[in-house]
Amino acid sequence: MFRRIKTEEYQMANQQTIDKIRDAGVVGAGGAGLPTQVKVNASVDTVLVNGASCEPLLNSDPYLMEHEVGTLIRGLEVVMECTGASRGCICLKGKHAAAMASVRAAAAATNGRIEAVELGDFYPAGDEQVLVHEVLGRTVPERGLPLQVGAVVSNVETVCNIASAMDGKPVTHRYLTVAGEIAHPMVVKAPIGTPVEEVLAFAGGPLIREYRVVDGGPMMGKVIPDVSRAVVTKTTSGLLVLPPDHNVVVRKVMEPAKLRNFTNTCCCQCSRCTDLCPRHLMGHSLHPHKLMRVFANLELESEIAKEALLCSECGICEKFACPLGVSPREVNAQIKRVLMQGGVKWQSSGRELVASPFREERRVPTSRLIHRLGITAYDTHPGYAGEIAPSLVRIPLRQHIGAPAVCVVSAGARVQRGDVIGEIPEKAMGARIHASISGVVESVADGMVTIKA
Ligand code: SF4
Ligand code: SF4
Repeated sequence: MFRRIKTEEYQMANQQTIDKIRDAGVVGAGGAGLPTQVKVNASVDTVLVNGASCEPLLNSDPYLMEHEVGTLIRGLEVVMECTGASRGCICLKGKHAAAMASVRAAAAATNGRIEAVELGDFYPAGDEQVLVHEVLGRTVPERGLPLQVGAVVSNVETVCNIASAMDGKPVTHRYLTVAGEIAHPMVVKAPIGTPVEEVLAFAGGPLIREYRVVDGGPMMGKVIPDVSRAVVTKTTSGLLVLPPDHNVVVRKVMEPAKLRNFTNTCCCQCSRCTDLCPRHLMGHSLHPHKLMRVFANLELESEIAKEALLCSECGICEKFACPLGVSPREVNAQIKRVLMQGGVKWQSSGRELVASPFREERRVPTSRLIHRLGITAYDTHPGYAGEIAPSLVRIPLRQHIGAPAVCVVSAGARVQRGDVIGEIPEKAMGARIHASISGVVESVADGMVTIKA
Protein backbone atom coordinates (compact mmCIF):
# COMPACT_ATOMS: atom_id res chain seq x y z
CA MET A 1 0.00 0.00 0.00
CA PHE A 2 2.80 2.41 0.87
CA ARG A 3 5.30 1.04 -1.61
CA ARG A 4 6.04 3.30 -4.55
CA ILE A 5 7.42 2.08 -7.83
CA LYS A 6 11.17 2.63 -7.81
CA THR A 7 13.19 3.29 -10.90
CA GLU A 8 16.69 1.90 -11.16
CA GLU A 9 18.12 5.41 -10.85
CA TYR A 10 16.09 6.06 -7.72
CA GLN A 11 17.20 2.78 -6.19
CA MET A 12 20.84 3.56 -6.88
CA ALA A 13 20.57 7.00 -5.26
CA ASN A 14 18.84 5.41 -2.30
CA GLN A 15 21.53 2.81 -1.92
CA GLN A 16 24.16 5.57 -1.89
CA THR A 17 22.28 7.34 0.89
CA ILE A 18 21.96 4.13 2.89
CA ASP A 19 25.67 3.41 2.39
CA LYS A 20 26.62 6.88 3.64
CA ILE A 21 24.48 6.40 6.75
CA ARG A 22 26.06 3.00 7.33
CA ASP A 23 29.58 4.33 6.75
CA ALA A 24 29.01 7.11 9.28
CA GLY A 25 27.98 4.65 12.00
CA VAL A 26 24.60 6.27 12.63
CA VAL A 27 22.42 4.43 15.16
CA GLY A 28 19.16 5.34 16.91
CA ALA A 29 20.27 7.92 19.46
CA GLY A 30 16.99 7.71 21.37
CA GLY A 31 18.09 4.70 23.38
CA ALA A 32 17.70 1.45 21.44
CA GLY A 33 20.68 1.94 19.12
CA LEU A 34 19.22 0.25 16.04
CA PRO A 35 21.62 0.79 13.11
CA THR A 36 19.93 3.51 11.09
CA GLN A 37 20.75 2.04 7.68
CA VAL A 38 18.30 -0.73 8.60
CA LYS A 39 15.51 1.64 9.60
CA VAL A 40 15.64 3.91 6.54
CA ASN A 41 15.71 1.02 4.10
CA ALA A 42 11.92 1.06 3.90
CA SER A 43 8.97 2.46 1.97
CA VAL A 44 6.56 4.59 3.99
CA ASP A 45 4.28 7.58 3.50
CA THR A 46 5.33 9.53 6.60
CA VAL A 47 8.49 10.21 8.57
CA LEU A 48 8.07 11.40 12.15
CA VAL A 49 10.93 13.08 13.96
CA ASN A 50 10.52 12.19 17.59
CA GLY A 51 11.23 15.41 19.44
CA ALA A 52 8.87 14.63 22.31
CA SER A 53 11.76 14.55 24.76
CA CYS A 54 9.28 12.92 27.08
CA GLU A 55 11.70 11.61 29.72
CA PRO A 56 11.72 14.26 32.45
CA LEU A 57 14.95 16.27 32.94
CA LEU A 58 16.47 15.53 29.52
CA ASN A 59 16.98 18.65 27.43
CA SER A 60 19.37 17.96 24.56
CA ASP A 61 16.72 17.37 21.88
CA PRO A 62 14.96 20.70 22.53
CA TYR A 63 18.40 22.33 22.35
CA LEU A 64 19.10 20.72 18.95
CA MET A 65 15.64 21.58 17.60
CA GLU A 66 16.21 25.21 18.56
CA HIS A 67 19.82 25.62 17.43
CA GLU A 68 20.39 22.97 14.75
CA VAL A 69 17.04 23.10 13.01
CA GLY A 70 18.62 23.52 9.55
CA THR A 71 20.56 20.28 10.00
CA LEU A 72 17.43 18.59 11.33
CA ILE A 73 15.32 19.63 8.32
CA ARG A 74 18.06 18.47 5.97
CA GLY A 75 18.30 15.09 7.69
CA LEU A 76 14.53 14.70 7.60
CA GLU A 77 14.47 15.45 3.87
CA VAL A 78 17.11 12.76 3.34
CA VAL A 79 15.00 10.18 5.21
CA MET A 80 11.85 11.24 3.34
CA GLU A 81 13.61 10.90 0.00
CA CYS A 82 15.08 7.55 0.96
CA THR A 83 11.79 6.09 2.17
CA GLY A 84 9.59 7.73 -0.47
CA ALA A 85 7.61 9.57 2.21
CA SER A 86 5.58 12.56 1.08
CA ARG A 87 4.98 13.84 4.60
CA GLY A 88 7.54 14.76 7.25
CA CYS A 89 6.58 15.85 10.77
CA ILE A 90 8.77 17.21 13.52
CA CYS A 91 6.87 16.35 16.69
CA LEU A 92 7.58 18.27 19.87
CA LYS A 93 5.90 19.67 22.92
CA GLY A 94 4.60 23.23 23.02
CA LYS A 95 6.30 23.78 26.38
CA HIS A 96 9.64 23.89 24.52
CA ALA A 97 8.61 27.30 23.17
CA ALA A 98 11.97 28.36 21.68
CA ALA A 99 12.42 25.01 19.93
CA MET A 100 8.81 25.14 18.70
CA ALA A 101 9.30 28.65 17.25
CA SER A 102 12.47 27.55 15.50
CA VAL A 103 10.89 24.38 14.07
CA ARG A 104 7.73 26.21 12.96
CA ALA A 105 9.77 28.85 11.12
CA ALA A 106 11.97 26.26 9.41
CA ALA A 107 9.00 24.05 8.48
CA ALA A 108 7.15 27.04 7.00
CA ALA A 109 9.94 27.41 4.46
CA THR A 110 9.41 23.88 3.08
CA ASN A 111 6.15 24.62 1.24
CA GLY A 112 4.11 22.29 3.41
CA ARG A 113 6.36 19.27 2.87
CA ILE A 114 7.40 19.34 6.51
CA GLU A 115 5.14 20.19 9.44
CA ALA A 116 5.71 21.12 13.06
CA VAL A 117 3.35 18.97 15.17
CA GLU A 118 2.60 20.05 18.72
CA LEU A 119 2.29 17.21 21.24
CA GLY A 120 0.58 17.28 24.61
CA ASP A 121 2.83 17.36 27.66
CA PHE A 122 2.36 13.81 28.86
CA TYR A 123 4.44 10.71 29.35
CA PRO A 124 5.28 8.64 27.30
CA ALA A 125 4.52 10.89 24.31
CA GLY A 126 7.87 9.80 22.88
CA ASP A 127 7.13 6.05 22.90
CA GLU A 128 7.23 5.53 19.13
CA GLN A 129 4.01 3.53 19.08
CA VAL A 130 2.24 6.19 21.16
CA LEU A 131 3.65 8.90 18.89
CA VAL A 132 2.36 7.18 15.76
CA HIS A 133 -1.05 6.82 17.38
CA GLU A 134 -1.14 10.47 18.48
CA VAL A 135 0.02 12.01 15.21
CA LEU A 136 -1.32 9.63 12.58
CA GLY A 137 -4.18 7.90 14.42
CA ARG A 138 -2.73 4.52 13.38
CA THR A 139 -2.15 1.62 15.76
CA VAL A 140 1.11 -0.23 15.38
CA PRO A 141 0.47 -3.99 15.63
CA GLU A 142 1.41 -5.80 18.84
CA ARG A 143 5.17 -6.29 18.87
CA GLY A 144 5.20 -4.55 15.51
CA LEU A 145 7.00 -1.58 14.02
CA PRO A 146 5.71 1.82 12.81
CA LEU A 147 6.86 0.67 9.36
CA GLN A 148 3.88 -1.71 9.33
CA VAL A 149 1.52 1.26 9.37
CA GLY A 150 3.48 3.33 6.87
CA ALA A 151 5.72 5.36 9.17
CA VAL A 152 9.34 5.68 10.15
CA VAL A 153 10.04 7.31 13.51
CA SER A 154 13.47 8.73 14.17
CA ASN A 155 14.96 10.62 17.06
CA VAL A 156 16.14 14.26 16.69
CA GLU A 157 19.86 13.62 17.14
CA THR A 158 19.72 10.60 14.83
CA VAL A 159 18.21 12.74 12.07
CA CYS A 160 20.90 15.40 12.59
CA ASN A 161 23.53 12.64 12.36
CA ILE A 162 21.96 11.48 9.08
CA ALA A 163 22.41 14.99 7.66
CA SER A 164 26.08 14.98 8.75
CA ALA A 165 26.54 11.53 7.24
CA MET A 166 25.63 12.97 3.83
CA ASP A 167 28.72 15.20 4.16
CA GLY A 168 30.84 12.19 5.09
CA LYS A 169 30.94 13.13 8.78
CA PRO A 170 30.74 10.08 11.07
CA VAL A 171 29.16 9.95 14.52
CA THR A 172 31.92 10.93 16.92
CA HIS A 173 30.04 12.99 19.50
CA ARG A 174 26.88 12.91 21.54
CA TYR A 175 24.73 15.67 23.08
CA LEU A 176 23.55 14.79 26.57
CA THR A 177 22.02 16.34 29.66
CA VAL A 178 23.74 16.28 33.04
CA ALA A 179 21.24 16.84 35.86
CA GLY A 180 20.33 16.01 39.44
CA GLU A 181 22.72 16.53 42.35
CA ILE A 182 25.35 18.21 40.20
CA ALA A 183 26.91 21.67 40.61
CA HIS A 184 26.01 22.94 37.12
CA PRO A 185 23.23 21.05 35.35
CA MET A 186 23.83 21.39 31.61
CA VAL A 187 23.54 20.11 28.09
CA VAL A 188 27.00 19.16 26.81
CA LYS A 189 28.54 17.72 23.70
CA ALA A 190 30.97 14.92 24.49
CA PRO A 191 33.17 12.71 22.31
CA ILE A 192 31.95 9.10 22.30
CA GLY A 193 33.97 7.24 24.93
CA THR A 194 34.39 10.19 27.31
CA PRO A 195 34.57 8.79 30.86
CA VAL A 196 31.39 9.55 32.79
CA GLU A 197 33.48 10.86 35.69
CA GLU A 198 34.99 13.43 33.34
CA VAL A 199 31.55 14.60 32.23
CA LEU A 200 30.48 14.98 35.86
CA ALA A 201 33.66 16.94 36.62
CA PHE A 202 32.99 19.22 33.61
CA ALA A 203 29.58 19.95 35.17
CA GLY A 204 31.23 20.99 38.43
CA GLY A 205 31.02 17.60 40.13
CA PRO A 206 28.35 15.90 42.26
CA LEU A 207 26.99 17.89 45.18
CA ILE A 208 26.75 14.84 47.43
CA ARG A 209 29.40 12.38 48.60
CA GLU A 210 27.33 9.20 48.09
CA TYR A 211 25.51 9.06 44.78
CA ARG A 212 24.39 6.82 41.93
CA VAL A 213 24.31 7.82 38.29
CA VAL A 214 21.44 6.95 35.95
CA ASP A 215 22.37 6.63 32.26
CA GLY A 216 19.30 8.01 30.47
CA GLY A 217 16.11 9.45 31.91
CA PRO A 218 14.53 8.76 35.30
CA MET A 219 11.86 6.49 33.83
CA MET A 220 13.73 4.20 31.43
CA GLY A 221 17.37 4.93 32.23
CA LYS A 222 19.63 2.37 33.92
CA VAL A 223 21.68 2.81 37.06
CA ILE A 224 25.37 2.60 36.12
CA PRO A 225 26.90 -0.25 38.17
CA ASP A 226 30.43 1.19 38.26
CA VAL A 227 30.76 4.89 37.41
CA SER A 228 34.56 4.70 37.28
CA ARG A 229 34.39 2.39 34.24
CA ALA A 230 31.41 3.95 32.45
CA VAL A 231 31.69 6.08 29.31
CA VAL A 232 29.46 8.14 27.05
CA THR A 233 28.12 6.07 24.12
CA LYS A 234 26.04 6.86 21.03
CA THR A 235 22.90 6.21 23.08
CA THR A 236 23.71 8.18 26.26
CA SER A 237 20.98 10.81 26.39
CA GLY A 238 21.59 11.90 29.97
CA LEU A 239 23.50 11.37 33.19
CA LEU A 240 21.42 11.91 36.32
CA VAL A 241 23.24 12.14 39.64
CA LEU A 242 20.94 11.01 42.44
CA PRO A 243 21.18 9.97 46.10
CA PRO A 244 21.45 6.15 46.42
CA ASP A 245 18.14 6.01 48.31
CA HIS A 246 16.27 8.17 45.80
CA ASN A 247 12.92 6.82 44.63
CA VAL A 248 14.19 6.70 41.02
CA VAL A 249 17.26 4.65 41.96
CA VAL A 250 15.90 2.20 44.53
CA ARG A 251 13.58 0.20 42.32
CA LYS A 252 16.06 0.09 39.46
CA VAL A 253 18.52 -1.81 41.63
CA MET A 254 16.20 -4.10 43.60
CA GLU A 255 17.38 -7.74 43.80
CA PRO A 256 15.17 -10.13 41.77
CA ALA A 257 14.37 -12.27 44.84
CA LYS A 258 13.33 -9.22 46.83
CA LEU A 259 11.22 -8.06 43.92
CA ARG A 260 9.39 -11.40 43.86
CA ASN A 261 8.72 -11.29 47.60
CA PHE A 262 7.55 -7.73 47.37
CA THR A 263 5.23 -8.53 44.46
CA ASN A 264 3.78 -11.60 46.19
CA THR A 265 3.19 -9.71 49.40
CA CYS A 266 1.99 -6.36 48.18
CA CYS A 267 0.05 -6.66 44.91
CA CYS A 268 -3.65 -6.40 45.72
CA GLN A 269 -4.80 -6.91 42.11
CA CYS A 270 -6.42 -3.49 41.98
CA SER A 271 -5.54 -3.36 38.22
CA ARG A 272 -4.62 0.33 38.31
CA CYS A 273 -1.39 -0.56 36.47
CA THR A 274 -3.47 -1.95 33.61
CA ASP A 275 -5.85 1.01 33.63
CA LEU A 276 -2.98 3.45 33.03
CA CYS A 277 -0.73 1.32 30.81
CA PRO A 278 -0.22 3.25 27.53
CA ARG A 279 0.07 0.06 25.45
CA HIS A 280 -3.10 -1.39 27.02
CA LEU A 281 -4.89 1.90 26.34
CA MET A 282 -3.95 1.67 22.66
CA GLY A 283 -5.72 -1.67 22.50
CA HIS A 284 -2.77 -4.03 22.89
CA SER A 285 -3.30 -7.27 24.82
CA LEU A 286 -1.24 -6.21 27.83
CA HIS A 287 -2.62 -6.54 31.36
CA PRO A 288 0.20 -5.93 33.86
CA HIS A 289 -1.98 -6.82 36.86
CA LYS A 290 -2.49 -10.31 35.41
CA LEU A 291 1.25 -10.62 34.88
CA MET A 292 1.77 -9.92 38.59
CA ARG A 293 -0.33 -13.01 39.32
CA VAL A 294 1.59 -15.09 36.80
CA PHE A 295 4.89 -13.94 38.33
CA ALA A 296 3.78 -14.62 41.89
CA ASN A 297 2.54 -18.11 41.00
CA LEU A 298 5.53 -18.93 38.77
CA GLU A 299 3.24 -19.61 35.82
CA LEU A 300 5.66 -18.45 33.14
CA GLU A 301 4.45 -21.07 30.69
CA SER A 302 0.93 -19.74 30.67
CA GLU A 303 -0.51 -17.80 27.73
CA ILE A 304 -0.87 -14.67 29.85
CA ALA A 305 2.88 -14.65 30.55
CA LYS A 306 3.45 -13.95 26.85
CA GLU A 307 1.78 -10.57 27.30
CA ALA A 308 5.02 -9.41 28.95
CA LEU A 309 6.50 -9.40 25.43
CA LEU A 310 4.25 -6.42 24.64
CA CYS A 311 5.59 -4.23 27.45
CA SER A 312 7.66 -1.20 26.39
CA GLU A 313 9.07 -0.87 29.95
CA CYS A 314 7.94 2.76 30.01
CA GLY A 315 7.54 2.55 33.79
CA ILE A 316 4.11 4.22 34.15
CA CYS A 317 2.83 1.21 36.09
CA GLU A 318 5.78 1.20 38.47
CA LYS A 319 6.49 4.87 39.00
CA PHE A 320 3.02 6.35 38.72
CA ALA A 321 0.14 3.90 38.71
CA CYS A 322 0.77 1.42 41.50
CA PRO A 323 -0.40 2.75 44.87
CA LEU A 324 1.63 0.12 46.73
CA GLY A 325 5.05 0.54 45.22
CA VAL A 326 5.02 -2.73 43.25
CA SER A 327 7.11 -2.85 40.05
CA PRO A 328 5.16 -4.39 37.16
CA ARG A 329 7.70 -2.95 34.71
CA GLU A 330 10.55 -4.86 36.34
CA VAL A 331 8.43 -8.00 36.69
CA ASN A 332 7.57 -7.79 32.98
CA ALA A 333 11.22 -7.28 32.08
CA GLN A 334 12.16 -10.41 34.01
CA ILE A 335 9.38 -12.51 32.44
CA LYS A 336 10.33 -11.17 29.02
CA ARG A 337 13.97 -12.17 29.49
CA VAL A 338 12.98 -15.74 30.41
CA LEU A 339 10.58 -16.04 27.45
CA MET A 340 13.03 -14.62 24.95
CA GLN A 341 15.81 -16.92 26.16
CA GLY A 342 13.39 -19.79 25.58
CA GLY A 343 12.63 -18.55 22.04
CA VAL A 344 8.98 -17.83 22.89
CA LYS A 345 7.36 -15.51 20.35
CA TRP A 346 4.22 -13.39 20.50
CA GLN A 347 1.41 -14.61 18.30
CA SER A 348 -1.30 -12.12 17.59
CA SER A 349 -4.88 -13.34 17.84
CA GLY A 350 -5.61 -11.25 14.75
CA ARG A 351 -8.30 -9.29 16.56
CA GLU A 352 -8.79 -5.64 15.69
CA LEU A 353 -6.88 -3.37 18.08
CA VAL A 354 -9.35 -0.89 19.52
CA ALA A 355 -8.09 1.98 21.65
CA SER A 356 -9.72 2.52 25.03
CA PRO A 357 -12.28 5.35 25.18
CA PHE A 358 -10.40 6.49 28.32
CA ARG A 359 -7.04 6.78 26.57
CA GLU A 360 -6.89 10.57 26.51
CA GLU A 361 -8.10 11.18 30.04
CA ARG A 362 -5.69 8.59 31.42
CA ARG A 363 -2.60 10.19 29.96
CA VAL A 364 -0.06 10.98 32.66
CA PRO A 365 0.85 14.71 32.71
CA THR A 366 4.62 15.18 32.90
CA SER A 367 4.30 17.71 35.72
CA ARG A 368 2.51 15.14 37.92
CA LEU A 369 5.03 12.49 37.02
CA ILE A 370 7.93 14.78 37.97
CA HIS A 371 6.26 15.46 41.30
CA ARG A 372 5.63 11.75 41.91
CA LEU A 373 9.23 10.88 41.06
CA GLY A 374 10.52 13.44 43.56
CA ILE A 375 12.66 15.26 41.00
CA THR A 376 10.97 18.68 40.97
CA ALA A 377 14.13 20.34 42.31
CA TYR A 378 16.15 18.96 39.39
CA ASP A 379 13.74 20.10 36.67
CA THR A 380 15.74 23.20 35.70
CA HIS A 381 15.81 22.97 31.84
CA PRO A 382 19.57 23.58 31.63
CA GLY A 383 21.17 25.23 28.61
CA TYR A 384 24.13 24.24 26.46
CA ALA A 385 27.51 24.59 28.15
CA GLY A 386 29.93 23.60 25.41
CA GLU A 387 32.00 20.67 24.26
CA ILE A 388 34.18 18.50 26.45
CA ALA A 389 37.74 17.79 25.29
CA PRO A 390 38.83 14.71 27.23
CA SER A 391 42.47 13.61 27.30
CA LEU A 392 41.42 9.98 26.88
CA VAL A 393 38.40 8.12 25.52
CA ARG A 394 37.39 4.47 25.92
CA ILE A 395 35.19 3.58 22.98
CA PRO A 396 33.04 0.42 23.22
CA LEU A 397 32.88 -1.69 20.07
CA ARG A 398 29.26 -2.44 20.88
CA GLN A 399 26.95 0.54 21.30
CA HIS A 400 24.09 -0.68 19.17
CA ILE A 401 21.67 -3.50 18.45
CA GLY A 402 23.38 -6.26 16.47
CA ALA A 403 26.89 -7.66 16.30
CA PRO A 404 29.74 -5.80 18.00
CA ALA A 405 32.11 -4.05 15.60
CA VAL A 406 35.39 -5.76 14.77
CA CYS A 407 38.35 -3.67 15.84
CA VAL A 408 40.56 -2.62 12.91
CA VAL A 409 43.29 -0.78 14.84
CA SER A 410 46.00 -1.98 17.20
CA ALA A 411 47.74 -0.49 20.20
CA GLY A 412 50.26 2.15 19.14
CA ALA A 413 48.35 3.20 16.00
CA ARG A 414 47.85 6.92 15.38
CA VAL A 415 44.27 7.87 14.59
CA GLN A 416 42.50 11.04 13.53
CA ARG A 417 39.08 12.00 14.75
CA GLY A 418 36.61 10.30 12.40
CA ASP A 419 38.85 7.38 11.40
CA VAL A 420 37.18 3.97 11.37
CA ILE A 421 38.32 1.89 14.35
CA GLY A 422 35.57 -0.76 14.31
CA GLU A 423 34.06 -2.37 11.22
CA ILE A 424 30.73 -4.20 10.85
CA PRO A 425 31.38 -7.97 10.71
CA GLU A 426 30.67 -9.50 7.33
CA LYS A 427 27.00 -10.35 6.69
CA ALA A 428 26.01 -9.12 10.16
CA MET A 429 23.78 -6.27 11.27
CA GLY A 430 25.83 -3.71 13.15
CA ALA A 431 27.35 -0.25 13.15
CA ARG A 432 30.75 1.16 12.38
CA ILE A 433 32.69 2.78 15.19
CA HIS A 434 34.97 5.80 14.67
CA ALA A 435 37.72 7.50 16.64
CA SER A 436 36.09 10.38 18.50
CA ILE A 437 39.36 12.22 19.17
CA SER A 438 42.74 12.32 17.44
CA GLY A 439 45.53 10.54 19.25
CA VAL A 440 47.25 7.22 19.82
CA VAL A 441 45.49 3.94 20.47
CA GLU A 442 46.62 3.02 23.96
CA SER A 443 44.96 -0.38 24.14
CA VAL A 444 42.32 -2.67 22.65
CA ALA A 445 40.85 -4.83 25.37
CA ASP A 446 37.51 -6.00 26.80
CA GLY A 447 35.60 -4.73 23.77
CA MET A 448 36.97 -1.20 24.20
CA VAL A 449 39.42 0.87 22.20
CA THR A 450 41.27 3.35 24.40
CA ILE A 451 42.65 6.43 22.64
CA LYS A 452 44.90 8.98 24.32
CA ALA A 453 44.82 12.50 22.89
S1 SF4 B 1 0.89 -4.04 40.68
FE1 SF4 B 1 0.08 -2.36 41.92
S2 SF4 B 1 -1.36 -1.33 40.54
FE2 SF4 B 1 -0.96 -3.33 39.66
S3 SF4 B 1 -2.59 -4.64 40.41
FE3 SF4 B 1 -0.85 -4.87 41.80
S4 SF4 B 1 -1.21 -3.37 43.42
FE4 SF4 B 1 -2.55 -2.80 41.72
S1 SF4 C 1 6.03 -0.62 31.77
FE1 SF4 C 1 4.01 -0.92 32.64
S2 SF4 C 1 2.82 0.78 31.88
FE2 SF4 C 1 4.62 0.65 30.55
S3 SF4 C 1 4.03 -0.69 28.86
FE3 SF4 C 1 4.89 -2.01 30.43
S4 SF4 C 1 3.15 -2.72 31.64
FE4 SF4 C 1 2.48 -0.94 30.46
